[in-house]
Parts: sequence; C-alpha cells; structure tokens
Amino acid sequence: MKITRVTAWQLDLPLTQPYFLSGGRLRFDRLDSTLVRIDTDEGLSGWGESCPWGQTYLPAHGPGVRAGLQSLTPALLGHDPCALDDLNRVMDITLPGHAYVKSAIDMACWDILGKFTTMPLWRLFGGSAAEPVNVNSSISTGTPEEMLALINRASKQGYRTHSAKVGGSDVGTDILRIDAISSGLPAGEQVTFDVNRAWTPGVAIQVLNSVSCNDWIEQPCETLGECAHVAARVSNPIMLDECLHSFADHLDAWKRSACEGVKVKPNRVGGLTKAKRIRDLGVNLGWQMHIEDVGGTVLADTAAIHLASSTPPANRLASWLCHYHLDLDPFPGQGARNNQGQAVPPSLAGHGVEPDVDAIGDPVLVIE
Ligand code: MG
Repeated sequence: MKITRVTAWQLDLPLTQPYFLSGGRLRFDRLDSTLVRIDTDEGLSGWGESCPWGQTYLPAHGPGVRAGLQSLTPALLGHDPCALDDLNRVMDITLPGHAYVKSAIDMACWDILGKFTTMPLWRLFGGSAAEPVNVNSSISTGTPEEMLALINRASKQGYRTHSAKVGGSDVGTDILRIDAISSGLPAGEQVTFDVNRAWTPGVAIQVLNSVSCNDWIEQPCETLGECAHVAARVSNPIMLDECLHSFADHLDAWKRSACEGVKVKPNRVGGLTKAKRIRDLGVNLGWQMHIEDVGGTVLADTAAIHLASSTPPANRLASWLCHYHLDLDPFPGQGARNNQGQAVPPSLAGHGVEPDVDAIGDPVLVIE
C-alpha cells in the first residue's frame, strides 16, 4: 500500500469560556486545529489531527502545523502508511524536531493500519477489550471558591478526578488555595494540582513543604532539571508534562528520579507511535500516567483514549477530553465521549472517527 495524497483542513475551535493556567499568566480563547486525511492507492483513507493548545502552552502553534506539513508531506508520497516505524524515521529525517506537526500524519496512518487489519486501535496497542477509561475535568485557575464551584459542577457531570490549575500567586495564597481545594473535594474524588511551570524551585519547595495534602503535583517548574531538584526535596508525588518532548527526555526524567508519573500526549511527542513507546516505558518503570492529547476535537481525544484504554489500569490515571471545552462539535455522535466520568474507545476499525468533509469546509493543503 502506498500514500498517494495528503489533504489538510484548518479548523477554528472556540472555547466555551476563556481558560487560564500557569497562575493565570496564560489565557486561551480558541484553538487552531489541523485535520489531515491520508489517501492510498488501495482506496483506504485515514484521518489525523494536530491541535496545539494555543501558542503559549508549548513550543507549537497552529499555523506551524500547516507550514510543517507543506515541507514534510512530499517526502511521504509512495511510502507504506502501515510501516509506521519506517514512516516515522522518514519524517524525522525529512523534518527533524517539530513533533507536533507529525502527530496528525502518524495518527492518520494508524487509522489506515486499523482499517487494513479491521482492528480498533485499542487492540493494535495491545488491549484485549475496549476498557472504559476514567476521564478527568480540567479546572481553570481562580480563587478556591471559584475552583471548587467548577469542581462541583464537573462532579455532577460524572467526573471523579480533577486537574486544578494553580501556581503564580504568592506562597501563602498558593498554600491556602491547594489545601482548601484538597479538603473541599466531594467525598471520594481526587485532584492533581497542575502548576504549568509557574513556580521557581524555591517557591515550589516552600509551598509543597507547607501544604498538608499529599495530592499529585504536576509540572511545578519550567525545566526537567528544576523539577528534579524539587522532586528530591518534597513528599508529594510529581507528574511531569510540558518539559518532556521525546523518549530520551522520559528516560532522563527516570534517571534523575524526577517524577512518579507523566502525561503522555501524542501531539507533544510526535504521534501515537512515539507515545506508545513512552507508554510502554512508563508501564515498565511503574509510572502512573495520564494519556490524552494536547488539544483538539473528539478525533484527537479518541485516538488518545485508545492508547489509554490499552494501558494496564495500575499505570493509568484519568484522561482529559479536550472536546468538552469547545463551543462546537464537528463530528457529533462519534468517538469516545464522557459517560458519567468514563469514556470507551470505539470498536470500529481504526480510531473510529470519520469526519464528514462537508462539515469542515475547503481544504487548505493538497499534496499528491
Ligand atoms: Mg499539565
């Protein structure tokens, strides 16, 4: 089988309400997503999505996806989309770095492999059944009262795990906020405090050696080195996210004893192929992982849920679904959805989301 055409569409995805993180210094109102369809000489097609979370969350941005695809995709024509390791090597030689550009291509090729083998991705990723995955809410930065109100609203929607965005306040305010949210949670529910790099190591150590809760703390500081310095001096379990971009970064995090868990996000690390390698490393290291994508529609969410579903329960925490933050749903009724706090990956061949081209307008890029 050979790739004969790559077509890309741009989608504007407004959020239902402004979203703040990293102590409120980063604000998001809309996402810029790119959908990719790969066609083959055997008539099979696959769909992928690359959607950075704005342009300030990671070194990635929406227009960069399209520019990268323009440079990358001519080299992929004629290659076998099912030979995913080989395809990733070609992508890395043709365009080193730029992981977020490649994830849509890789996702579309996994979709083709699933359709070719008539297997859902959860099975290709090693799962024995479409296991339901717990999903977590994402709570924008605010006062403890505002954040607990959002948590209570999410709880009514079935969420039992919450990712509360903190950091950026003075030390005393962050200590009070974290303890107030932890002790104010609905009974039996869990929270991860996501700092999104807002603390310096000194502030992280002050706050975390003062709070009385033992909840997960995510990405306290900017770099892996800073986070490792903090991890050695606090008792809360540490989850890493934005500072990990490659398999080598994850290995480095383990060597430095910098974390007990990681966020595995295909768009951040270059696609499902590389995310699966990191997932497998995490299982072997005993990490607990949140497996989800950086952003996007139900398409990107569903692809990540397949990987989460096929991961041993002991190694996965909850997964976040970006599409519940969006003001539009371009593929209604399809994919993995929140059903009382859980999402089940489709058992259709591939990832199971088939966009209607009439609903997404004219393509912005066709390479054949
Ligand atoms: Mg995070």
